[in-house]
Amino acid sequence: MSKIALITGITGQDGSYLTELLLERGYVVHGVVRRTSSLDRSRLKDLYADSETYKNRLFLHYADLDDPTTLRRVIFKAAPDEIYHLAGQSHVGLSFEIPESTCEMTAMGTLRLLEMIRDLPKKPRLFHAASSEIFGKPTDVPQDEKTSLRPVNPYGCAKAFAFQMVAVYRDTFGIFACNGIMYNHESPRRGENFVTRKICRAAAAIKLGIEKELSLGDLSSKRDWGDARDYVVGMFLALQHETPGDYVFATGELNSVEDVVRIAFETVGLDWKQFVKQDPRFMRPAEPQRLIGNPSKAELQLGWKRTRAFTQLIAEMTLSDLENLRPTGA
Ligand code: GDP
Repeated sequence: MSKIALITGITGQDGSYLTELLLERGYVVHGVVRRTSSLDRSRLKDLYADSETYKNRLFLHYADLDDPTTLRRVIFKAAPDEIYHLAGQSHVGLSFEIPESTCEMTAMGTLRLLEMIRDLPKKPRLFHAASSEIFGKPTDVPQDEKTSLRPVNPYGCAKAFAFQMVAVYRDTFGIFACNGIMYNHESPRRGENFVTRKICRAAAAIKLGIEKELSLGDLSSKRDWGDARDYVVGMFLALQHETPGDYVFATGELNSVEDVVRIAFETVGLDWKQFVKQDPRFMRPAEPQRLIGNPSKAELQLGWKRTRAFTQLIAEMTLSDLENLRPTGA
């Protein structure tokens, strides 16, 4: 019998890679899709167009985290062995503009899901994608699973709530629920308003003469950036372990926005200083400090490891955008 997985946030960067990974491993995959998501142009379009897979082993359902009745029905119908909860507004900058809906989706949405699982006679395993933003301005560097939570933006606060609730439901109701404390993770499928993709896309567009310059916020901001394809393997491994727990998924390495700029522009053979401008519109009211993760627990307990280095990842993303933007036939 194939295992059954349900993914919230299936159309996102991580959801699409995780779907591919689970299908490769013989799973039946159900995905929760918001009515507003366009499937034709989504990251799932190739799987969606593949009639062998779509509606045989991959099923998409319209539901939303703020519509508990529908979500409950989908869970009941799919009867999953594993739920991967990846959905939610995930842009930190945007969370200052729409704090209430960020909390509604990310914090309350996770609680609703936990309540649904609590009521099921056969409880599926749950993976919740938490975020390094729960640490905000940490006292410990690098951070691990025992570091105190000190979020500095609405997104971090919402994720901190969800993170704690997952632990409460695990301890109180015996649910096999895991938190992944996910540091930033990127790929050619990263959303275009995240800084790495914004930079890689712009370097490619400037190279092709489609755009002239790139406006950015704080170039000195640093992040622990990994590869999304490695991080979805971590999600999967967490749910295969004998016991549930929380795991940091990170690289343990810090790089700056300027490092991303330099690598992306070097990849297309341009001098970034001629094209990049600072623009106060992209500055954040508060920046997390020294967010760098120690993934030792995931490495030791789950056998998780990274496969791609940062420079390689940024170069790959830039070349992928060069390919995407190149006029057909050129
Ligand atoms: P985040 O860690 O989830 O906020 O990921 P982002 O990719 O959105 O931002 C990473 C870092 O890049 C943050 O410290 C931003 O302040 C910084 N940054 C600098 N310029 C920009 C920009 O133009 N857009 C975005 N999104 N971030 C920028």
